[in-house]
Amino acid sequence: MKILIVEDENEIAQLIEQTLMREGFSCLIANDGLSALEIFRKQQPDVVILDLMLPGLDGLEVCTRIRQQPYDKDPYILMLTARGEEIDRVIGLSTGADDYLVKPFSPRELVARVRALLRRSLRHEVQEVSQTYKTKHFTVDLEQHTATRTLDNSTDELDLTTLEFSLLTTFLSYPGRVWSRTQLIDKLWGNDFFGDERVVDTHIRRLRKKIEPNSANPTFVKTVVGVGYKFEDET
Ligand code: CA
Repeated sequence: MKILIVEDENEIAQLIEQTLMREGFSCLIANDGLSALEIFRKQQPDVVILDLMLPGLDGLEVCTRIRQQPYDKDPYILMLTARGEEIDRVIGLSTGADDYLVKPFSPRELVARVRALLRRSLRHEVQEVSQTYKTKHFTVDLEQHTATRTLDNSTDELDLTTLEFSLLTTFLSYPGRVWSRTQLIDKLWGNDFFGDERVVDTHIRRLRKKIEPNSANPTFVKTVVGVGYKFEDET
């Protein structure tokens, strides 16, 4: 497991590195946003520990750009923030970080968070092998090409178009993750897409009609203003 540490304060960066190396992780360090992106492209780490306040390109921008890269395996991003109120800002902007840690933090806390992220990633791989994705209310079976919703103790098969099926599968593969329209287009159409990215909104609207108890007030497929969409359900 490769971890990229992005932190402009060298002492903190080295402390994180030592902590994680003791736990058997291999680490890379970047001291600013641009070199972080360069190392990211070359090394494709599994986890990125990303400080919010960086000179030049800040952590939010780095996070957004990492999420825009079309890689097979998305990294887990753990954002470091100096103050509690910054977290609200980070979550409000929903750039696609997977977790947040407020400075100062203990080495033990950091290791616990990284392990939790990696457990998520292992679970994800297992699911990919078994070809099913499951959250509390939804199950998608890729082999059978079936999607079901369980609500109020009743399980119903969903009648989805191929595109809606792919959309739901994408959402279920990373519950809680924020997707931009561009990222969804990459997942659904790959490089074959030419047109207005707002077409995604149309398919989202149709999917909501089929899976939401009340599509005017969605509880599963949430709009993230200025960014895109996210799927929320317990796993
Ligand atoms: Ca900093």
